[in-house]
Order: sequence, then C-alpha cells, then structure tokens
Amino acid sequence: MRIIKNVKEMKEFTARAKESGKIVGLVPTMGYFHQGHLALMEKAVQQCDVVITSVYVNPLQFGPKEDFASYPRDLQRDAAMAEEVGVDAIFSPADGEMYPEGFDTTVSVGESLTNKLCGLKRPGHFTGVATVVTKLFNIVKPDKAYFGLKDAQQVLVIKRMVEDLNMDVEIIPVPIVRESDGLAMSSRNVYLTSEQRKAAVVLYQSLKLAEQQVKKGHIDAVEICRQVKEKINNEPLAELDYVEIYSYPDLKFIDKIEGRALLAVAVKFGRARLIDNIILEAQKDVSDSI
Ligand code: AMP
Repeated sequence: MRIIKNVKEMKEFTARAKESGKIVGLVPTMGYFHQGHLALMEKAVQQCDVVITSVYVNPLQFGPKEDFASYPRDLQRDAAMAEEVGVDAIFSPADGEMYPEGFDTTVSVGESLTNKLCGLKRPGHFTGVATVVTKLFNIVKPDKAYFGLKDAQQVLVIKRMVEDLNMDVEIIPVPIVRESDGLAMSSRNVYLTSEQRKAAVVLYQSLKLAEQQVKKGHIDAVEICRQVKEKINNEPLAELDYVEIYSYPDLKFIDKIEGRALLAVAVKFGRARLIDNIILEAQKDVSDSI
C-alpha cells in the first residue's frame, strides 16, 4: 500500500488507474481509524478496483475553541489497518499542501441544510467540510466516495454539493457502526474517561427510546425531543448540546413525524463532544390507504 503525501503524486496515481479503466473509490477521513472507518473502506474495496483513503485533519472545519490540536493522530497504525482491508493508497497531505500560501476559495452549501444541528453549533464547519471534500474530489477524481451516516447532516450536505456543482462522483452512504453497548464508534471516544465511557451509552439509549415511542404511534416531535432530553439530562456526566428532529432527507422543521425523520443528538462528556442519530419512520396510517 502506498502512502502519498503530495497532490501531484496523488493525481498521477489516479490518472494511471483511470487509464487502465479502473473504478476508483475514495474514503475521506480524519484518521485514527476504528471499525466505522473500516466499514467504509470494506464497502469501497467491494465496489471499486482501486481504493484511496484520505487521512487529513482539516483545520478549516474546526472552530477556534475546538479540538484541532488535540485530535488523535497515528498514521502508522492507520496505514496498517487500511492495508489489512485492502486499501491501495493513503493520501495524507500536510496543511501546506492542501492550503498553500494565498489559498482563498471556499465552497459553502446553502442554509436550508446547514443552519441547524452541527452547522448551527459549529459555525463554518460545513464550509470547511465542503471545501476540503471538493479539493479531495478534484485531486483524487474518484468514481465513488464513501461517507458514514454517523454524520448524517454531512452526507446530505455533500450530496447537495455534488448535485448542485455537477460533480462526477457517486456518494455512497454507509450505516453507523456501533460498539456492543450501542455507542457509535468515533475517534473522539478516546477522550472519554472510563466513567464517561459508561455514561455515554445514554446517547444510543435515548435514540432507541425515541424509536420505540414512534413505533407505538407517538409522532409529536416536540414531545419526543423532550423525552430524549430528559433521558440524557438524567445522566449526570452528560452535558446536552442539542436534540433535534427534522424531516429526512430535506431537514425541514416538523412538529409531527410523518414518513422519515432524522433525530440527531450532540452531547458533551468532559472534553468529548459526541454526536449520534437515528432515522425515525412513522408507520403509515392505515386510514391513508383507504
Ligand atoms: P472522521 O474521520 O470522523 O471524519 O470520519 C470519516 C468518515 O467515517 C465519515 O464519513 C464518517 O461519517 C465515517 N464514520 C465515522 N464514524 C463512523 C461510524 N461509527 N460508523 C460509520 N461511519 C463512521
């Protein structure tokens, strides 16, 4: 497996693959791999001839008070894990390679998808994401790119961007991979103390609580958010950031869950800010079909 550090070399690598008619897959990541990342890579390996994983902690998508400096990094460990699942190359550029002196262009996706959830709580975050993903698409020129539904809003933002800007890449969403107790895998889970780790299971439990309520026919979005908040607030180590429900996939405000809806939560445990989500689906009222 190759580790490529510069843009020119990366472009040459894909150009060669494309010349021989290969399907190129890209898995963009910030590294410090876990099974969630590997699930994306495995899917890419199944569907593509050549798979590239980018490992880049993108400064543009972090706020000034966020964890850019302390974000976990271990390229050697990542390279061994990626090689194991059949990745062909890791693209791991330095900041100066991605944002050289004079860099002055960003890509921002409109507010209907970005003025809520993490977009509202982390101003500039999705512009940072859209900009770096555009650059990665231009450098790697993948036929398919893989994104985890753990970041459901991110998938929607990237899909919007690809459609709006006529980018020739197919976006493949991949389901959330969880620990055995339900906690969504995340590189940021390493920030948790053992007490916080145990407490963090409340995220998944609160999502399942909402799912059960909807299955029972309770479709009042405000009431479901209230119950989810109550469940999280009952955990002393949890500091709630947001609990919100929107229609899915267009992220419109709703007061009733009809069809599919996204319930997304963000909660801090000490210095770890964790996010999770679930797609709720209200059973179609039988009377509708009469
Ligand atoms: P990150 O390195 O955290 O930026 O994540 C890179 C990619 O992996 C993103 O598309 C994430 O949505 C995806 N990802 C991260 N954690 C998980 C998980 N637990 N399950 C599925 N995908 C994930």
